[in-house]
Amino acid sequence: MQIAKDTVVSMHYTLSDETGEIESSRNTAQPIEALIGHGGMIPGLENALMGHTTGDQVEVDVVPAEAYGERDEGQVQRVPKKYFRDGARLKPGVITALAMKDGGQRTVTVIKVGSSVVDVDLNHPLAGKTLHFAVEILAVREASAEEIAHRHVHGPGGVEH
Ligand code: ZN
Repeated sequence: MQIAKDTVVSMHYTLSDETGEIESSRNTAQPIEALIGHGGMIPGLENALMGHTTGDQVEVDVVPAEAYGERDEGQVQRVPKKYFRDGARLKPGVITALAMKDGGQRTVTVIKVGSSVVDVDLNHPLAGKTLHFAVEILAVREASAEEIAHRHVHGPGGVEH
């Protein structure tokens, strides 16, 4: 079966930029599973995987516009320390989660830590980077109607509920 909209791909991937490896699914026990065509994967990677099948190795460079966007230098904010769960452990360069007013979370990078406030960069840590993905496709299957309705994968490697 070929990768297309409404399929589920099981894969191993290694992500790197010009300075080296950033993360790899091979460092964890499980390959990752992704539902294709529902916004769960960055567009540049998803487009590169389309039409491939089990056993294929895919290598692709993805520019920021097709990944996590360009960096916006205006996205630096001063936030009271109490909004961080791990306020005591913050230091420059640490990537942490900031609770948002809407109840969600945002991944931020700490720039500077004061006694009661923290300067953070709200840009995604991978914004502005051209990313290199090396992917090995382990399996491709049709997504269930329920997975498509929920817009995520169910079962081991996905959401179990
Ligand atoms: Zn679900």
